[in-house]
Amino acid sequence: MAPKLLMLTAICRLIVIVGLTLNPNDLHLIEPEIQLSFNRTDIQSASSDFGKTVTQSPVAVLHPSSPTDIANLVKLAYEYGFAVSARGHGHSINGQATTANGVVVQMTRSPRSPVAAPLPVPVVNEKLMYVDVWGGELWIDVLKCTLTYGLAPKSWTDYLYLSVGGTISNAGISGQAFNYGPQISNVYEVDVVTGKGELVTCTEDQNSELFHAVLGGLGQFGIITRARIALEPSPQRVRWIRVLYSNFSSFTHDQEYLISLHGQPNSQKFDYVEGFVIVDEGLINNWRSSFFSPSNPVKISSVSSGGNVLYCLEITKNYYHHSDLETVNQEVDALLKKLNYIPASVFTTDLPYVDFLDRVHTAELKLRSKGLWDVPHPWLNLFVPKSRIADFDQGVFKGILGNKTSGPILIYPMNKNKWDEETSVVTPNEDVFYLVALLRSALQNGEEALTLERLSDENRRILKFCEEQNIGIKQYLPHYTTQQEWMDHYGEKWPQIYKRKMEFDPRHILAMGQRIFEPSF
Ligand code: FAD
Repeated sequence: MAPKLLMLTAICRLIVIVGLTLNPNDLHLIEPEIQLSFNRTDIQSASSDFGKTVTQSPVAVLHPSSPTDIANLVKLAYEYGFAVSARGHGHSINGQATTANGVVVQMTRSPRSPVAAPLPVPVVNEKLMYVDVWGGELWIDVLKCTLTYGLAPKSWTDYLYLSVGGTISNAGISGQAFNYGPQISNVYEVDVVTGKGELVTCTEDQNSELFHAVLGGLGQFGIITRARIALEPSPQRVRWIRVLYSNFSSFTHDQEYLISLHGQPNSQKFDYVEGFVIVDEGLINNWRSSFFSPSNPVKISSVSSGGNVLYCLEITKNYYHHSDLETVNQEVDALLKKLNYIPASVFTTDLPYVDFLDRVHTAELKLRSKGLWDVPHPWLNLFVPKSRIADFDQGVFKGILGNKTSGPILIYPMNKNKWDEETSVVTPNEDVFYLVALLRSALQNGEEALTLERLSDENRRILKFCEEQNIGIKQYLPHYTTQQEWMDHYGEKWPQIYKRKMEFDPRHILAMGQRIFEPSF
């Protein structure tokens, strides 16, 4: 540990333990009320993440009560040279929100957040249809708040127990992205603490370089303390439909057709387009597909000629209390008529909008009750260009994966024109690209095919296949360990990323768990 951090540690320990109010000359930037936590439980939970494959312990954890707390800590880190990582809900896979020997800023509300100075609550502007939220706010709480005004964010992730700062540091995608773009295309304004400890408000027009830098910025350029999120009138109900395909090109043809309807009036398009791959029969009832329920059984044998890969298209139609059900049915039928799925394979359910958005949490609770949630998750998320998705299908779904996958495999296309090129995220260079998400759980005591080693090795083989076949993938929620790999990942964008880093975090103190830049202290 750096001697200066040791000193800080010692002084802060004193502040915490003895309750001293210090005013040393070189620590004048730290407010007496900032108290770093050295609590073992805090340190432990900040050391790991959802992936459960990487452990790195910070020296201390800050539970901020305001952006100023964070700015003061970062100023100190900038001056003395130690690492600071924002941590949202810790749902990364490879230790991206952790840092060894530095301070983790726990952005979400927690029982250990200061009671005397609570974090800002969401503030809705009904007229201009936006909500201002704390960077550590969970999307589920954003939704609960906006619904009291009959409003809801437009673009989602499949799972809502993620923080706003965490998802918009990546992109934030789900089945609405074809129409509204990722979550980062639906942010109007952010407050950011830069790597120099400056607190800056940014929009498209004001401090626009920092605005674009932090969106999809993997925490490299600043800590987002507030985000202004676009809202729309909230639907109340959802018609949720799944249909099956055995032919990959019919499946992708239909998905691409459906996303080409973006910008059309509501009556002429679905509101959400996703899909998943079924390489083994067991998976039909995986945690992402719980509505193939006993009351709605899937007779896979009736649609599969044994051992074949199946593809499931998942679509929804939102509607309102005042909607005429007959019209909703007609709109859905008209859209379904244009698709080429296996005729006997339509599965439909109807549920409240909130229950649809929060569907993965329902699955989470079931997995938790079986002890299957807190296990290692060697997840791999890839953006695959449309022109090569058939090659990917042959090589990976019908090749490398075999018939045991240990978790859902999502696949859905998005329109590149809904992504702002100025942000820090990188996507393949085609008008349409697919997300392929291999969301697998390792079960150490389970079958050999499902161990962490086996699944990690499969991930490596998939990446090698993509490289050898020159598929042109980009990793989403990327994970690399050398700067050369990061330079390859960013490609033409690397000089811009480097320049942004030099400008906004010149000492490389922020989000070192991403392993993009070496520390310069
Ligand atoms: P963390 O893991 O805590 O942090 C992620 C990164 O962001 C770190 O580098 C951290 O330093 C940085 N960071 C965190 N907060 C801030 C901040 N306020 N300012 C600046 N940097 C910050 N993603 C999707 O796009 N779509 C999905 O449907 C989806 N579903 C998921 C379902 C599950 C069950 C899980 C575990 C993940 C899912 N993800 C999905 C991935 C998720 O969006 C990312 O892992 C995201 O980073 C998680 O948010 P978090 O709050 O846990 O971030």
